[in-house]
Amino acid sequence: MAQATLPLKHLFDLPEGVIYLDGNSLGPLPKGAVARAVDVMENEWGAELIKAWNTADWMSLPQIVGDQIAPLIGAPSGSIATGDTLSIKVFQALAAGLKMRPERRIILSDHGNFPSDLYMAQGLIALKDQGYHLRTPAPERVIEQITEEVAVVMLTHADYRSGRLHDMAAITKRAHAVGAVMIWDLAHSAGAMPLDVSGCACEFAVGCTYKYLNGGPGAPAFIYARPDLVATVEPALSGWMGHIAPFAMDPTYQPAMTTERLRVGTPPILQLSVLQQALRLWDGVSLTEIRAASLALSELFIAEVEKRCPGLTLASPRDPAQRASHVSFAFDHSYPAMRALIDRGVIGDFRAPDLMRFGFTPLYLDAADIRRAVDVLQEVITDELWRDAKYQTVNKVT
Ligand SMILES: *Cc1c(COP(=O)(O)O)cnc(C)c1O
Repeated sequence: MAQATLPLKHLFDLPEGVIYLDGNSLGPLPKGAVARAVDVMENEWGAELIKAWNTADWMSLPQIVGDQIAPLIGAPSGSIATGDTLSIKVFQALAAGLKMRPERRIILSDHGNFPSDLYMAQGLIALKDQGYHLRTPAPERVIEQITEEVAVVMLTHADYRSGRLHDMAAITKRAHAVGAVMIWDLAHSAGAMPLDVSGCACEFAVGCTYKYLNGGPGAPAFIYARPDLVATVEPALSGWMGHIAPFAMDPTYQPAMTTERLRVGTPPILQLSVLQQALRLWDGVSLTEIRAASLALSELFIAEVEKRCPGLTLASPRDPAQRASHVSFAFDHSYPAMRALIDRGVIGDFRAPDLMRFGFTPLYLDAADIRRAVDVLQEVITDELWRDAKYQTVNKVT
């Protein structure tokens, strides 16, 4: 396949006049996704009814989509199960990881990890009720806390607030040196940069598909289990779709011998179909080029903001090698300022307590977009447009 030249704006249905700097939170609508959803609803669900599980091969869709994700994270075909939400997949990976080190009681994460990942660990610890502890040092101190007490190291590769990257290879190596299991959450890095899950040899990797993979709101999550381990992984959530023979209706659970054992219940066919369509746009796209372009856009943004908006303080690593594909700036009035920005067609998001966060997705952004976005930001800050009363009430979703 010939390599595509970035950006590929024509592959997305973006509203006219909007500069979308939030593809790290919810990717935009890929062209063809609506047609695909309508096709599935009318020609599969509508026309075929329950027969579509076979005639449209709905039952294989989680695997088919998993195999589309695999090359994007450096995993082999057949090593990824899709479905549920990322929080569920975190729970499954963690439960399975703890079972692999039954004599150890420490889960090591970091205090910058996404709250849901930490909450799932807390819930699992309470459920097990066997003296497990979650340690959350500062991200920079994680590596020195990986000791022989640690059962599982569970980290998110790219910090959701600052974009700071953990070194997947070095941390995994350290975890394995002390006999700990490694779980990587790739929520903010899958689709943003080349990843090498196989190369780092982590036991598990999880991620979501509605961020850089553009699968749409509520799109299913993914879980990777290292192929040499999968036949012994205990799935914890032992639903019928992970059974070796779901339609044998055996009253006793017996897991599939493949990654399928990490499936739980009925797959979300509409979302999976849309995701399947969304993932097609990666054909011929080089993640190395995506990474280079994303850093070029981020560097331009940082330089322009620092020059033109002196009230904002960079809250992301300055070294691009340490930074994922989003950039955050701290500002005392971040929430109303982001509302004012969104009102003027530049969409980023606010993250507590005081961050304005901007994602750079070179699939549909170029340098001209970045300059125009900073023009608007400068106006919002310099003219204090955020002071308008209508930006002071806090929405349910920020
Ligand atoms: C986005 C994100 C989630 C969200 O989990 P859901 O269950 O899909 O809502 C979890 N963890 C991380 C690290 C994330 O970035």
